[in-house]
Amino acid sequence: MKSPQYGHPAHRERARGTGPCRLCLRTFVVGEEDRLLFTYQPVSDPDSLPAPGPVFIHAEPCQRYDGAALPPDFRTLPVVVEGYGEGGWLLFQEPAVDETPETVLERAFAVPDVAYAHLRNGEAGCFMARVEPDEGI
Ligand SMILES: [Zn+2]
Repeated sequence: MKSPQYGHPAHRERARGTGPCRLCLRTFVVGEEDRLLFTYQPVSDPDSLPAPGPVFIHAEPCQRYDGAALPPDFRTLPVVVEGYGEGGWLLFQEPAVDETPETVLERAFAVPDVAYAHLRNGEAGCFMARVEPDEGI
């Protein structure tokens, strides 16, 4: 019940928003599922500026999402795509408005030196997922 990176206490509550869960990447069932809130630092590059923020995960055990496509529940959420280069520099940032996140991701990965992307919730601003480009692109 502590943030794995900072040691701050985690908070357990009944879901009041859809999330998503940062482990299984499913949205929460509001008013039915319990979730844990804690501080998470999603930037793994040691030379980059840290960007800690709040994340939610299911309070009950769930499976880590590791698919080749975006999880279906992301279709219901406002997504902002951020493209990062080596060293963790932000090189691209666009919301997916009137188009799919995949379309915006294609634009992000077309920017020279973008090595990976983060998806953020466009309303809450919190980190949702990291996306690696397809091999061979
Ligand atoms: Zn989950």
